[in-house]
Amino acid sequence: MGNATRDIENLIELMAKLPGLGPRSARRAVLHMIKKRALLMTPLADILSEVAVTARECLNCGNVGTTDICEICAAEKRAIGEICVVEDVADLWAMERAGVFKGRYHVLGGTLSALDAVGPDDLQIPKLRNRVAAEEIHEVILALNATIDGQTTAHYIADELAGSGVTITTLAQGVPIGGELDYLDDGTISAALKARKSI
Ligand SMILES: [Zn+2]
Repeated sequence: MGNATRDIENLIELMAKLPGLGPRSARRAVLHMIKKRALLMTPLADILSEVAVTARECLNCGNVGTTDICEICAAEKRAIGEICVVEDVADLWAMERAGVFKGRYHVLGGTLSALDAVGPDDLQIPKLRNRVAAEEIHEVILALNATIDGQTTAHYIADELAGSGVTITTLAQGVPIGGELDYLDDGTISAALKARKSI
């Protein structure tokens, strides 16, 4: 019994390291899995051990999948000359869920940060420059977070690509769909006002 309890404790400790889960949520999740052993825990254990072997980063864009070149990079119909630059894979997946962007992506792997000593060579910026030439890109869309580091990175990339003949755009910033002005912070309101357009 002692060892079994130790195993369950170890499982809880590992689960608690997952983003969004603390020790309390991890305990609840583990208890839930034990109760749903056949329905949840066994299939989860199987797929975890499989994905632990098969998951890899796309050699071209940095997306996470189970092949060396991801499905988006492999799809010929997505070679429309547009690259959407994102900070990390979660952002890429969010864009794909929206289902409106038809081109390819480029995952930077973070943002420039003086504080954390992240420089251009720590990110996939040189590779982006190569792809712009190799894939006959005419537009680079910078879909970076509206943080100081995100915007610093956007400006750096825009400078790097200046003179390469590509159009460089960024996502509009402003009032979110369903957003009420009264609940927005000052920065969002000021960005929305600056990006105003005629109706
Ligand atoms: Zn890819």
